[in-house]
Amino acid sequence: MKISDYSGVWVFIEQRDCNIHKVGIELLGKGREIADKLGEKLTAVLVGYNVENKAEELIHYGADHVIVVENEKLDIYMTKPYTKVLSNLVNDRKPNVFLIGATAIGRDLAPRIAARVRTGLTADCTSIDVEENTTNILMTRPAFGGNIMATIICPDHRPQMSTVRPGVMKKPEKDETRSGIIEKIDISIEKEDIDVEILSVVKEEKNKINIEDANVLVSAGRGIGKKENLHKLSELAKLLSGTVSGSRAVVDAGWIEKNNQVGQTGKTVRPNLYIACGISGAIQHIVGMEESEFIVAINNNPDAPIFEVADVGIVADANQVVLSLIDELKKEKN
Ligand code: FAD
Repeated sequence: MKISDYSGVWVFIEQRDCNIHKVGIELLGKGREIADKLGEKLTAVLVGYNVENKAEELIHYGADHVIVVENEKLDIYMTKPYTKVLSNLVNDRKPNVFLIGATAIGRDLAPRIAARVRTGLTADCTSIDVEENTTNILMTRPAFGGNIMATIICPDHRPQMSTVRPGVMKKPEKDETRSGIIEKIDISIEKEDIDVEILSVVKEEKNKINIEDANVLVSAGRGIGKKENLHKLSELAKLLSGTVSGSRAVVDAGWIEKNNQVGQTGKTVRPNLYIACGISGAIQHIVGMEESEFIVAINNNPDAPIFEVADVGIVADANQVVLSLIDELKKEKN
C-alpha cells in the first residue's frame, strides 16, 4: 500500500429507523476540524434504506460530500452486509481517516472493517488531532485502567481508524447555507452476504431520560451512604428537570442501573449541570463527566479529587446538602 494514495476524512453515519444517531453529527464536527488541518475533504458515509433525505443535513453539519449507500437489505444493521459494503468502499476510495461512533453498532462494525482492510483501530478515543507536518492523526485514549492517557498513531497503514463514544466530541453548529455533493450508490446484496435473519425487533421501553441526553444530572457516589438516600437525589433531579446517574461504585453496589453509570466503563455525559454527591473523583469517573458545562461537587473530604474539576465545591455531608437544595427549590417554586 502507498500511504500517499489515501486522502480524505470519513465519518460513518449511524442510523436507526432512518434517524441519525447523534454521535455521527458529533464526529462530523471533529472530522471537519481534522479535514481542515489536513487540507482534505470530509465525507459522511450513510448506509441504510430510504435514508437519502438525511444527506443534506449532513452537509449542513460540515460534510463536503455524502456517500449514500441504499439497499432494502441494509435497512436494519447486520454485521456481515454492513462490513462488506464499508470495506469495499474503503478499498475502492482509499480514505486517509475513518471515524466511527463507539455505539453497540460501531463497536461491532469498526474492528471488522479494520481487519478486512488491514489497518489498525484505536477504540474509545477521547481526543483526536493531527500530527504536525505529516498526515498522521494523534488518537488519544485512556490506557492501563485510565491511569495514563495514551496517544496512538498508525503511521504505516491507512485508513487511520478510530471509534469515539457518544458525547465525547462537541456537536457542531448547523449551517444551512453550506453546500456539498450527495452521491448515491446502489449496490446489490447477495444471499451469501447475509447470515442472520431478523425475525422481529423488540424495542426497550423508554420512559426514563437517557443520561447522555439529560440537561441536569444529580450523580450519586458511595458517599451518599445507602441506597435509600437515592430517593432524595431523585427528588432533587426531578425539581431540576433532570435525572439521576452515578459512579461505578454505586452500580456495583446495585443502587442504580448500569445504564446510568458515568465514566470510562459507563457513559460520557455533557449536561449543563452535573451535581456530584459523595463521588471521590477517580480518573475513570472524571473522564466521563469533565466536559459538563457546570459541575457542583459535594464531598465531606476537602482533598477529594472531584474538587479539581468542579466549578463549585461544597465540603459537607452530601445528603444534608441535597435536602437543603430540595427545600430551597420548593420554596422558590411556591
Ligand atoms: P469512593 O471512591 O468510595 O468515594 C466516595 C466519596 O464520598 C469519597 O470521596 C468520600 O470522601 C465521600 N464521602 C463519604 N461520605 C460522604 C458524605 N456523607 N457526604 C459527602 N461525601 C462523602 N468508576 C466510575 O465511576 N465510572 C467508571 O466508568 C469506572 N470505570 C472503571 C474502569 C476501570 C478499569 C477501573 C479500574 C475502575 C473504574 N471505575 C469507574 C472505578 C473508579 O476507579 C472508582 O473506584 C469509583 O469511581 C469510585 O466511586 P465513588 O467515588 O462513588 O466511591
